[in-house]
Amino acid sequence: MSPHLKQFILLLEGVNKAFEGFQAINDLNFYMDEGELRTIIGPNGAGKSTMMDIITGRTKPDTGKVEFGKDTDLTTMNVPEINRLGIGRKFQTPSVYIHHTVFENLLLSLKGPRGVFHQLFALTTSEQRDRIDTVLKTIGLMARAEDLAGSLSHGQKQWLEIGMLLAQDPKLLLVDEPAAGMTDEETHKTGELLLSLEGKHSIIVIEHDMTFVRQIARKVTVLHQGHVLCEGSVDDVQNDERVKEVYLGRRKKH
Ligand code: ADP
Ligand code: MG
Repeated sequence: MSPHLKQFILLLEGVNKAFEGFQAINDLNFYMDEGELRTIIGPNGAGKSTMMDIITGRTKPDTGKVEFGKDTDLTTMNVPEINRLGIGRKFQTPSVYIHHTVFENLLLSLKGPRGVFHQLFALTTSEQRDRIDTVLKTIGLMARAEDLAGSLSHGQKQWLEIGMLLAQDPKLLLVDEPAAGMTDEETHKTGELLLSLEGKHSIIVIEHDMTFVRQIARKVTVLHQGHVLCEGSVDDVQNDERVKEVYLGRRKKH
């Protein structure tokens, strides 16, 4: 079907962004179906994080369409407005409240009109506790619920932060290099966590670690110089001559 007739959860079309004359995003076209788990790879500087900045409203594109669901133009909205639409972003470094328990961290992330003080000191409803329990199970931290977040390992903090996003029940989840700094075992568990979310949320994962990419990959998008170089299965993209050239070309320089 033509991309123009189909309903995507996320559409970027003809997107450009230059920083002081440097074309970081160059005629970027990207389409994603609802419920998809999409992995984006590409050399350093390819524009992967800038693409996430554009989707989340942190950076405004110079030109192009950025649409969420049916007819929601993200280019006219700011960061909190886009977040409220159900687009959650996980940055590389975990930012959990280390002096609060795992349970409290999740409680603070729940959707609701009340401020931090009320979230912590008002009685939690059974609905809130059920929601938090579900998230704790999903992220594998049920046994750590009453421990301070500061006592968690780096990997566990990353899962907690993913849990804090899940507590808000996002439609689209953007995850930038989740495996960075993790042990092999933590990396594998992260892969299982992301796979368990497939279908329930639409997810974009940016990642470098090819073992991890292989574990979670469905459709892979290769970004190069701010443009989609190719898309397909892991095998498709790893066997693509243009992709080999981009990665080998870089390696030769080092
Ligand atoms: P990736 O995440 O794929 O490694 P980035 O999106 O971080 O790449 O960066 C793409 C290019 O844009 C890089 O050359 C980077 O230096 C540049 N860039 C990103 N953000 C800014 C900014 N705010 N100001 C100037 N240059 C930027
Ligand atoms: Mg990046």
